[in-house]
Amino acid sequence: MTVWLLGDHLHPSHHVLDGADRVLMVEATDFADRRPYHPQKLGVVFAGMRHARDRLREAGYTVDYRRADSFGDALDAHFDAHPGDDLTLMRPPSHGAAARLRELVTSRGGTLTLVDDDRFRCSPEAFDEWADGDEFRHEDFYRWMRRREGVLLDGDDPVGGRWNYDEENRETPPKDWSPPPTPRYDPDDLTRETLEWVDSEFDTWGEREGFAWPVTRADALDALDHFVSHRLPAFGPYQDAMLGGEWALAHSLLASSLNLGLLRPGEVVDAAVEAWERDEAPIESVEGFVRQVLGWREFMRHVYRRTMPELAEGDLLDRERALPPLYYEGETEMRCLDEAVSHVYERGYAHHIERLMVLSNFATLYGVDPHELNEWFHFGFVDAYHWVTAPNVLGMGTFATDAFTSKPYVSSGNYVDRMSDHCADCPYDVDATTGEGACPFNALYWDFLKEHEETLRGTGRMGLMYSHVDRKSESEWDAIRERAARLRERAMAGEL
Ligand SMILES: Cc1cc2nc3c(=O)[nH]c(=O)nc-3n(C[C@H](O)[C@H](O)[C@H](O)COP(=O)(O)OP(=O)(O)OC[C@H]3O[C@@H](n4cnc5c(N)ncnc54)[C@H](O)[C@@H]3O)c2cc1C
Ligand code: SF4
Repeated sequence: MTVWLLGDHLHPSHHVLDGADRVLMVEATDFADRRPYHPQKLGVVFAGMRHARDRLREAGYTVDYRRADSFGDALDAHFDAHPGDDLTLMRPPSHGAAARLRELVTSRGGTLTLVDDDRFRCSPEAFDEWADGDEFRHEDFYRWMRRREGVLLDGDDPVGGRWNYDEENRETPPKDWSPPPTPRYDPDDLTRETLEWVDSEFDTWGEREGFAWPVTRADALDALDHFVSHRLPAFGPYQDAMLGGEWALAHSLLASSLNLGLLRPGEVVDAAVEAWERDEAPIESVEGFVRQVLGWREFMRHVYRRTMPELAEGDLLDRERALPPLYYEGETEMRCLDEAVSHVYERGYAHHIERLMVLSNFATLYGVDPHELNEWFHFGFVDAYHWVTAPNVLGMGTFATDAFTSKPYVSSGNYVDRMSDHCADCPYDVDATTGEGACPFNALYWDFLKEHEETLRGTGRMGLMYSHVDRKSESEWDAIRERAARLRERAMAGEL
């Protein structure tokens, strides 16, 4: 039996490896020619694969590591060497991938057996048994997962009497707070050589220098340990905060390792819970982190699975505007956007609130085609894969689909002002809506609500927002519309 490991199957002991005679790994490059991926994204995948190959060989596996333009070319070579081979693969989460790979294998005379993906705790069968119809509520799923996995429970109830400490996860740090340290995994020779090859081979977007992501199981375990020891205590309270000059705050930075299979969600959750049991991290941090990993990450994977291909088709709000050049070039006076875009450019990373309430919020209010934004997230982030980027961008980020959200996550500049120190250092005035110098989020926010009134007013949870819309006079609307139109022109000209 040959086990086929994909580029995001990098754990040295995935359960699929049990009893394997041979391991096939395909380093195909054609996907990387289709988009201007971040060099650090290509770096984590290709360097991660090359390190995984070497570790597997050291552990005694025979590894056929095939470098080719496409999977098809690599499989031609594989089946020439091993006619009629049986391949076993963990079922890939991206829509249609399993069927495409099976076709590639069977058309070359082989067979493909699909097994469960151990990068997730909840299997498709378990989720489908839990889900009642097509209504998916994260909070229900999360509580079910906590009980199913026995995490932070006191009998059948949550420890501390509450399932959710969301309310305690919205603090902003005091002025004298400095974020805890972040770990760096400086490239070794193999990673450096891979990054240089990426640079010479592909058209990329983003900085290569400064690469410090884990690409081996050992480094990923160290990153988990570092997070739990240094940043987990502050993770909960400051989860939604943003600070000038700080890209990581107390976030875990573990998504790329989880999505590459270098870390397992179960061990990550256990490490956080054990810190709480040792009294080294407060419940609001540990519960908040568990909610993200055991709740949101697993939930997104299944919502995606259950709602594709519709999830990624069309747009509830029919938006067609192009993504403004500032997302590509990073040139803007808007402090919050300038910070968030440069974090992505420099590291292939921005934390959740920057992704949601700055990068997606602005694009949503501006009226960007959500599919172009999804592409941008897909090539720009080290942790991006279709199964996770698509539901986050198209569902949570832009409300292109209402598959699992009942209203868009949008806000005026007020939210950024409350959760960050950006507005104090920004040339725009967060308290003004119209007039030269008014914060662009403000006019665009009202213009967005007005433009999509027909669809949004009736969505149930927008009542409060529309009660404010109803209070504005015609002359206020004229000024808002004019300001929004002017802002869009300036954004397209790269002058915002
Ligand atoms: C517009 C948008 C795009 C996003 N794109 C991606 C993406 O391409 N890949 C990705 O893994 N996550 C994505 N997320 C979810 C989340 O923002 C990232 O997982 C997180 O910011 C990664 O940083 P971290 O590891 O420091 O996470 P932390 O803030 O420390 O959170 C801990 C872990 O929880 C998990 N998690 C938290 N929220 C989510 C979520 N909504 N969906 C899935 N997992 C979650 C991740 O595994 C993360 O590592 C996106 C969110 C938004 C709003
Ligand atoms: S004033 Fe507006 S543009 Fe400037 S940082 Fe605040 S929210 Fe962002």
